[in-house]
Amino acid sequence: MSRGLLRRSIYKSPAQLRLMRAPGAAAVAALEALAAATRPGVTPLELDAIAEAAIRAAGGAPNFMLEPGYRHTICANVNEHVVHGIPTDRPLEAGDIVALDVGAVIDGWHSDAAITVALPDPARPERTEAVTRLSSVTEQAMWHGIARLATASHLNEIGEAVAAYVRANSDYGILEDYIGHGIGRRMHEDPPVFNVPVGRRGPEVKPGLVVAIEPIISAGGIDTIVEADDWTVTMADGSLSAQWEHSVAVHADGIWVLTAADGGAAGLAQFGITPVPIP
Ligand code: MG
Repeated sequence: MSRGLLRRSIYKSPAQLRLMRAPGAAAVAALEALAAATRPGVTPLELDAIAEAAIRAAGGAPNFMLEPGYRHTICANVNEHVVHGIPTDRPLEAGDIVALDVGAVIDGWHSDAAITVALPDPARPERTEAVTRLSSVTEQAMWHGIARLATASHLNEIGEAVAAYVRANSDYGILEDYIGHGIGRRMHEDPPVFNVPVGRRGPEVKPGLVVAIEPIISAGGIDTIVEADDWTVTMADGSLSAQWEHSVAVHADGIWVLTAADGGAAGLAQFGITPVPIP
């Protein structure tokens, strides 16, 4: 038997794509609840409970809890924290920028998504501008990557689109060590989804491909350190960071953003792309 036959294809069947709609919808519910609840005074631990309740109400379970040693529904990365932030009881403050990463599993199929919320500080307009713009550029970088997926012949075109957008619109850093991924029966599968050009084309984009596209962007340098808890990752220079993420399916009739309530219609309209529901 050839080794190839032992490896799971990165391309899902139409029936498998359909099974990924439910965990996607559970992530949508969690993101909507998180977006509505994130404001000064609320704690990341409170947001964690809100996200868990939303996922369970949608018939799912939080899949981050399946990671060994992790007991929470979300990762909450405030200001200079980049990824893997364990929710704390420190209340959010005006001027904070908080990335909220969440995922769900239903019937063994996974979703993964993230939003960043920039909290305005009326007393510090320059801070408000800084956190708002960083989140906006990061979100738009994600949509440029998703839009490229709709027309790409090969997956690594996504990184070209993400990097081109960021470099044309900011002097922000793209955290090259943090990449998106395939998603399906596991939250993290092949193939890697880079946020910068990598000098090779990557796998073919064709029906059945499902990927999490998740640029992480810094307002300063791109070097990071792992904190003493052995989990939380922080910007080495203390600069702010932001993350946006969606799980996106390619199917025979188009693309569909599994973790967006509208399938990505609002974010993709600027590119003239209309997402098509998974049949
Ligand atoms: Mg992810």
